[in-house]
Amino acid sequence: MRPTSPAVDPSVPARVLRSARPSGTRVSVGPVEIGGPAFVVAAGPCAVESAAQTESAAEAVAASGAHLLRGGAYKPRTSPYAFQGLGEAGLSILGRSGGRHGLPVVAEVLETSQLASMIDHVDVLQVGARNMQNFALLRALLKRGFAATVDEWLLAAEYLLDGGNTQVILCERGIRTFETATRNTLDLASVALVKQRSHLPVLVDPSHATGLRELVIPMALAAAAAGADGLLVEVHARPEEALCDGRQALTPELFSELMQRLPPVLEAVGRTLHRRVAASPAVRAVSP
Ligand code: PEP
Ligand code: MN
Repeated sequence: MRPTSPAVDPSVPARVLRSARPSGTRVSVGPVEIGGPAFVVAAGPCAVESAAQTESAAEAVAASGAHLLRGGAYKPRTSPYAFQGLGEAGLSILGRSGGRHGLPVVAEVLETSQLASMIDHVDVLQVGARNMQNFALLRALLKRGFAATVDEWLLAAEYLLDGGNTQVILCERGIRTFETATRNTLDLASVALVKQRSHLPVLVDPSHATGLRELVIPMALAAAAAGADGLLVEVHARPEEALCDGRQALTPELFSELMQRLPPVLEAVGRTLHRRVAASPAVRAVSP
């Protein structure tokens, strides 16, 4: 029988462990607190494709009560021929839609050279699964690498904390296993485990974890029940036209259903859904 893995190697300071901050870390993003009693939902398209597509997704998720807007401007694609994102133009589209709806913005950074332009548009920098061990890049929302153990994931977060960044959020997005029926295997046990071992907030991404729209709501509810602090969910107004990950995108109607089904599940485990303060004032200035 394989032994269960130890907590992070005790020869390192292990600032990531819960014992370093027993009450837990809360990360504040504008009016949203991640890691507190309230559950938060970041939603939006996989990729920023155009101003109209981003705005329709932002409008839909804001209307259903999302707390943050997600969207990729730099897309790490498996094939060099796939849509790679709109780059800086995409960042400003995303920032503008977020500002219009009072939603702080989450977007992935792929290279340190992108940081300077991202800071003006983005509130939370996402480090994707493919970059979990790109230590030059590590900031903020740290997704688990698809072949990373829990200890490796926590040690990647340790780099951030050791570098002085205390505003770190973890995100479980599924790992690669022998199973091919789903895009990845959602490791919800790791969510409960990491919540016990570490003081950092943990989000769950049921979109990349399953790859299948019809599994996103059940897994999002399961994540809420398992003790996650929130969700990162892909939403597209017309998933069949999406340039990226349409098969796993929720429609606005399904996202609205998710937001309505979350509160009773959260209540059953002693949590609540974060309540948005009125949509205005905008989190960031909206340029004309
Ligand atoms: C994403 O969230 O857009 C993404 C690419 O996810 P991951 O890094 O988990 O594959
Ligand atoms: Mn995606």
